[in-house]
Amino acid sequence: MKLHEYQAKEVFARYGLPVQTGTVIDRPDAVRGLSIQYPVVVKAQVLVGGRGKAGGVKLAKTPAEAEAHARAILGMDIKGERVGRVLVVPAADIEAEYYLAFVTDRAARRVAGIASAAGGVEIETVARESPEKIARLDVDPCLGVPSFVARGLGRRLGFSGTLLEEFTRIAAILYRLYWDEDADLAEINPLARVGGHLLCVDAKLVLDDNAAYRHRDLPPSEEMTPLEREAREHGLAYVELEGDIAVIGNGAGLVMSTLDLLAHFGGRAANFLDVGGGASEEGMQTAIELVQRKPGVRALFINIFGGITRCDDIARGIVKRPPRVPASIRLTGTNEVEAREILKTAGITAGIDPEEGARAAVALAKGAGGASGSAAKGGPR
Ligand code: GDP
Ligand code: MN
Repeated sequence: MKLHEYQAKEVFARYGLPVQTGTVIDRPDAVRGLSIQYPVVVKAQVLVGGRGKAGGVKLAKTPAEAEAHARAILGMDIKGERVGRVLVVPAADIEAEYYLAFVTDRAARRVAGIASAAGGVEIETVARESPEKIARLDVDPCLGVPSFVARGLGRRLGFSGTLLEEFTRIAAILYRLYWDEDADLAEINPLARVGGHLLCVDAKLVLDDNAAYRHRDLPPSEEMTPLEREAREHGLAYVELEGDIAVIGNGAGLVMSTLDLLAHFGGRAANFLDVGGGASEEGMQTAIELVQRKPGVRALFINIFGGITRCDDIARGIVKRPPRVPASIRLTGTNEVEAREILKTAGITAGIDPEEGARAAVALAKGAGGASGSAAKGGPR
C-alpha cells in the first residue's frame, strides 16, 4: 500500500525526521484560511511519482498565487490519477538535492540502502545514465543500520562535519522506520540541503500489505478505484485492469486461468470479479451490474465451475440481470442441466468449454464496434 506524501510525512515526523509542516486542502479557497509563511509550495497529493514534472508541484509567493495554483492542480489528471487534495507547505530554499531510500531487494534477500548526491531527479535515470553516482548498502539484517554504517554511506556521498552527522541520524532513523512500519520502500527524494541543514522535502512510503494488521493506526489504502471499493463493501473480490472484456468467475484459480485464456485468444480483460464459492443469485446480479459499469467494457465473459456454487443460482441471477453488453457464458458442474433450462427460457445460451467461451468473448469485444444494447444471446453452443 502506498501512502500519500502528507501521510508519509506524518509518519516521518513521528520518528523525528525533519519535514516541512503543512496543511492538506481540497478546495482552492481554503488557501485563504491558512496561517502559513510565504513563499509556499502547492503539491498534488496522488499516489504516483513525478508530480513535479507533470505540473503538480508549484511555488507561490502570495496567497492569491497559491490559490490560483491550487485551483489549477485540484482536479488535474496525473498519470491517470485525479488530484483531490493538495498539500501546502512553506517553501524551502534548496541549496542541493540528495537521494536516500531503503528498499526490499528480493534478489539480494536483503534490505538495500540507496543514496546519491544526484537527487531530485528520478533515481532510475541516475542509475541508467551515471550509475557511479549511486552508493549502495546491503543491510546486514542482524546489524541493521547503526551510526557507523550510516556514516560510511554519508561519506560516500561526500558529506562531512555537521551535514555528515545529520545524514547519519536521518539514515539510521529512516531504516528504523522502514523496519518498524513493515515498509517495502521508504524514500526521500529530494533530501535537500536548506540553510546548511538537511530536510526531507519529499517523502514516499510503500507498506507491505501483508503486515497491515500490525499497523491499524495507519490510514486506510486509497489505491482502490470507486468500483473496487464498492465491490469490497459487497464482499466481492473485484480488480480493475486495462482491457475491454469484463470477467466474472468463481474461485481465484479459475479467474486467473480465465484471464490467461482471454489473453491467449488476443483479448484483454477490463476487470475481473470473483464471486467465490457458493455464490448466490443476488451476488451474481450485483456482480453483473458492477463489472459492466467500468467505462470501456465491450463484452462480458462469465466463466463458472459449479462445485459448492450451484449453476442454477448463477443462471437465475443472469436471467434477472441480463447483461447490457454482448456476453459469452460458460458454465458447468453442479445443477448445470437446470441452469441451462433457466437460461433457455430467457433465450440465453451457455457453453461448456472454457476455451470456446473465451474465444467467443474476444470475438464479441472485437465485433461490438462500440454498439451497445445487444442482449446476451450470442454465447457459444
Ligand atoms: P515529485 O516530483 O512527485 O517527486 O515531487 P517532489 O516533492 O519531489 O517535488 C518535485 C521537485 O519540486 C523537487 O525535486 C524540488 O526540486 C521541487 N520542490 C519541491 N518542494 C520544494 C520546496 O519547498 N522548495 C523548492 N525550492 N523546491 C521544491
Ligand atoms: Mn520527489
